[in-house]
Amino acid sequence: MPKAKNIPILQQSLLNWYAVHQRDLPWRRTRDPYAVWISEMMLQQTQVATVIPYYERWMKRFPNVVTLARARLQTVLKLWEGLGYYSRARHLHAAAKIIVADHRGQVPHRITDLRKLPGIGPYTAGAIASIAFDADEPVLDGNVTRVLCRMFRITTPPKDIHTQQKLWHLAHQLIPTGKAGFFNQAMMDLGATICLSRKPLCEQCPWRTHCRARAKGEQNQLPVKTPARLLPHFDIAVGVVWKNGKILIGRRKPKGLLGGLWEFPGGKRKSHESLKACVIREIKEETGIDVEVNQPLITVKHAYSHFRITLHVFTCRWRAGRARPLDCTAVKWVTPRQLDAYPFPRANLKVIEALKNRSS
Ligand code: SF4
Repeated sequence: MPKAKNIPILQQSLLNWYAVHQRDLPWRRTRDPYAVWISEMMLQQTQVATVIPYYERWMKRFPNVVTLARARLQTVLKLWEGLGYYSRARHLHAAAKIIVADHRGQVPHRITDLRKLPGIGPYTAGAIASIAFDADEPVLDGNVTRVLCRMFRITTPPKDIHTQQKLWHLAHQLIPTGKAGFFNQAMMDLGATICLSRKPLCEQCPWRTHCRARAKGEQNQLPVKTPARLLPHFDIAVGVVWKNGKILIGRRKPKGLLGGLWEFPGGKRKSHESLKACVIREIKEETGIDVEVNQPLITVKHAYSHFRITLHVFTCRWRAGRARPLDCTAVKWVTPRQLDAYPFPRANLKVIEALKNRSS
């Protein structure tokens, strides 16, 4: 824990450093709570450089809560396409509707109200409350966690519940009254640009003389890592089914992984099942049609947070039956050009690219 007499020194040295070294990021040019909320949602599990173009496109298309609340979910998902963790987009859309209905279109300023909105956890609530409303609330993301674990030499796993409580308490203790917004952003920047996960730049750190991990030469051992789990792997067989110049696509159920996105029909291969048999079975179960499986189109490897997949994509031809949404919420026959109007998961985008390359 920091000594009480050191807290003002740590606060001031970090704020001074931030005044000179802060990153120029598009969402920092405003304190509009809506913009802060959108940026913080996009930044969850996504790198800043990836987020910037998405954020800029989003703010042009949905400049405020009302435009977002009125949009169709499919339009929202299309704008999010490729950013991953699509539940974030669904939550933003659902939360915008609640804000319009219950908060007269204004992002609420109280942590308790923010936490009731879909997709807003303690980190995002703290970020919105402190950055947009100057509330004395801490934040704790991966960057802040790394800085705190090193500064105060926390040697237990950061995800451990007791460590979490300790980290939140520390983050709270360090907040300078009335300056939480700047301080929190300074902590984020310190973690992102100086206290790097590998090879931290301690000589440039404003906290170097107080850092306990540095004093012991343990910067590279902290935070302690939980051993990486071996992610399970699944083979997914998928069909690009043609009928009269059109391709069949289906929309996933609204909840769960990739909920609401469109995809080419297919599914998980059973043990001892051939890929071609799997395509035929899955398409029949999902849409009710019979297909003839032709040549392979592309193989795509993709990793999600809890598992990895290999998509084996085949070109198929419709043989019989009327396509209907048996294990999805909608099916459509579309031309290759129309595919661009629908939101697809990243792995499917590679299939679309392969289709375009083949026909060009
Ligand atoms: S001195 Fe090094 S390890 Fe300590 S907080 Fe600064 S950058 Fe991180």
